[in-house]
Amino acid sequence: MPLSAEVPAHALACVYEGVGLPIKLDDKHPVTQPQDLKQGEVLVKLEYTGVCHTDLHIWKGDTPFPVPMPLVGGHEGAGHVVAIGEGTDTALSVGQAVGVKWIADTCSTCSYCMNGADQHCAKAGVSGMLQDGTFAQYMVAAARYVTPIPDGIPLELAAPVLCAGVTTWSALKRTNAKPGDWLAISGASGGLGHLAVQYALAIGLRVVAIDGGDDKRKLCEGYGVDHFVDFRDYKSGAELIDAVKAICDGIGPHAALVCATGGNAYGQAIEFLRARGTLAAVALAANTKIEAEVFSFIGKGLTVAGSYVGSRQDAIEALSFVARGKVRPNVQVEALKDVQSVLERMDRGQISGRIVLKCH
Ligand SMILES: [Zn+2]
Ligand SMILES: [Zn+2]
Repeated sequence: MPLSAEVPAHALACVYEGVGLPIKLDDKHPVTQPQDLKQGEVLVKLEYTGVCHTDLHIWKGDTPFPVPMPLVGGHEGAGHVVAIGEGTDTALSVGQAVGVKWIADTCSTCSYCMNGADQHCAKAGVSGMLQDGTFAQYMVAAARYVTPIPDGIPLELAAPVLCAGVTTWSALKRTNAKPGDWLAISGASGGLGHLAVQYALAIGLRVVAIDGGDDKRKLCEGYGVDHFVDFRDYKSGAELIDAVKAICDGIGPHAALVCATGGNAYGQAIEFLRARGTLAAVALAANTKIEAEVFSFIGKGLTVAGSYVGSRQDAIEALSFVARGKVRPNVQVEALKDVQSVLERMDRGQISGRIVLKCH
């Protein structure tokens, strides 16, 4: 088995040189050569990378702490292994398709790592924030942490699963919803929501999709949701809450997944959940608190679960739905060199679906 394929000395990488500064398209970015890889590392030739809202937060400096720059952004990569560091103990082979996630590596020995919650490891590396990410033609990644991509998945569809897909699938598991249960998804047509809808339907949940607009209704109904609730049809949040309860046996859904960043989606979900219901919080809405009136929160026996990306196992499961044709990300492909324009359009709210950048 060869340990490497041909790799160029330089290739294109998109570099954040400082907060909000123009992104440098560096086509002379050095590529780590196979003989320079450390044990445990692989060199990945990236084919596609998704663009996530978090990439925009990092470029604009909307993070709780300063991010070290210069930095290659991006954390939804799909490509092929082209070299393996000498002495690396791995089942990976050169030519294999792999994905790169937000979490780039972990210690593998702490209690979180050992309990399937490796995303909470205190030593986690983070792609496109704490180390160079996927807005590049080549990158170095940890062999034990890349996600094998099953045969037959087009890599432009695999890329958004590595963040948006794993995040929604992991959150869905956190709701503990069972086949036949009602699940309300707010922001149902967005980058996260449209995947949550498909995962939920694939495991036999009854889905109430909440969003606004005829295009969004069409998308959700095309997936086969049981009900689409257009929030624009209701004069108040109270009316919308009553409508969702009425659809779900008159007492509300068993679970709610909040993928919407605007409005009062969290507050509404807490109101419309049935007793013993679970809210899974996914959307990172700035300056937002999840508030509940304590008497009714306890009286209804509610659970609120924050859900932060997902584990390695979640990533494998999330990709498997795509491989089996049960879930298909809605993507538009653009060129890697257009990353700044994509981030600017995202900032203006002009992006629908998921933009995936072609790296070569
Ligand atoms: Zn992301
Ligand atoms: Zn750990």
